[in-house]
Amino acid sequence: MSRLTFLGAVGEVTGSRYLLDVDGPSRPHRLLLECGLHQGGRELEGANAVPFGRLAGQLEAVVLSHGHLDHAGLLPKLVREGYRGPIHCTADTAELLEIMLVDAAFVMAKDLEWENRWRSRAGKPALEPLYDEDDVVRTLEQCEPHDYGRPVTLPGDVTLVFRDAGHILGSAIVELAIPSGGQRRRLVFSGDLGNPASALMKTPEKVHEADLVLMESTYGDRDHRPLPDTLEEFARVLDEAHADGGNVLIPAFAVGRTQEILYHLSVLYHEGRLHQQMVFLDSPMAIRVTELYARKHKALDPDDLRVLNVAAHGDPGQYLPILRLTRSVEESMAINRIHGGAIIIAGAGMCNGGRIVHHLRYNLERPSTRLVIVGFQARGTLGRQLVEGAERVRVLGEELAVKARVHTLGGFSAHAGQSELIGWAGAFRDHPRFYLVHGEPEAQRALQAALEEAGIQAEIPAYRQRIEL
Ligand SMILES: [Zn+2]
Repeated sequence: MSRLTFLGAVGEVTGSRYLLDVDGPSRPHRLLLECGLHQGGRELEGANAVPFGRLAGQLEAVVLSHGHLDHAGLLPKLVREGYRGPIHCTADTAELLEIMLVDAAFVMAKDLEWENRWRSRAGKPALEPLYDEDDVVRTLEQCEPHDYGRPVTLPGDVTLVFRDAGHILGSAIVELAIPSGGQRRRLVFSGDLGNPASALMKTPEKVHEADLVLMESTYGDRDHRPLPDTLEEFARVLDEAHADGGNVLIPAFAVGRTQEILYHLSVLYHEGRLHQQMVFLDSPMAIRVTELYARKHKALDPDDLRVLNVAAHGDPGQYLPILRLTRSVEESMAINRIHGGAIIIAGAGMCNGGRIVHHLRYNLERPSTRLVIVGFQARGTLGRQLVEGAERVRVLGEELAVKARVHTLGGFSAHAGQSELIGWAGAFRDHPRFYLVHGEPEAQRALQAALEEAGIQAEIPAYRQRIEL
């Protein structure tokens, strides 16, 4: 019998990792599905340092659903520890990975430089990074890009097909046919399923055949606010900021959310509803990803692109003429001199680092400023403090009074809500076994109950649980 072991994204939304032991025609084979980074807090991130051990040498293939770090961010560590086999992903994921992993290695090296300076003063030994740029280069060389819908043969006579998951550029649902006990068993892994309402991405493909389904459950406990309501609120906030003569700050995640916000700003601009004269995208990584999205516009939702009435190729400024891409630190610092009328999109998405922190320092004490939160803010981050209405916060070592107005817009999400998850699950014929992954326990239990009402039985696996296919 072939088996699957749950090694990550169990009762949590990061660190995706599933091991497949395939009972092949002549000998056993080991394959890995996902190799994600644990994110959010020291304790959780400590899990990233645990060595892969013998597994790195035993694996014959890695399959990857998409380029987000919580799914792909430990690949260079696997390679550093000796994995030399192929990494199967979609072609767009391979290109996105190049941006994501180079940045991850860079940020890691920078953080470690600070930490090691402190450790050396305290007489402690220096820490090693999980991986460096050389490991990333090798990882990228091992990527084997594939198109959606094209079957690929993996070791052990396993067949792989990617389907569009509509979550971010290149994101895929993974379909595997695996020999097990003399039969072929069909395993479908949802990857991260997109939100059909969100701009630019296509609707997640439905799959009808499976014996076993691993389904994400990030928003298993709720539906998102309808997008049109969110967009109206967004437009109103922009209007008010313009009337008050203040800047609008949008902390944004580099992949997906940034491009979606730029899309909505473009639509408002073309409708003549955007009064601001300057939009800054102030993040070198988000700029690179935005340019990739523009180059890959054929993979995006054609209906959304039609709204812009332009073939969005080359410079993203073509569809938002007032967009300024600020790559250098000098250009970024120059924005600080602007006291009103600008929209500033900068990372990090949770305000826990990056250029947004500097903009907060200059704008948070002005009552005319609008801070627009468009993504999830984890506990312990500056973004979370601001969302929860903190009156004073520490920014870059300085205590600031929060006079800016903070708006949280809940309708921008790159994940399917509960109803969409149930709809996707309901498309399978023949009652496959469902396992809920990639979700916090409350969300998983709520989804399990809602699926049950829809006549679908789903289990919540435990860490290291092993199941037979
Ligand atoms: Zn994702």
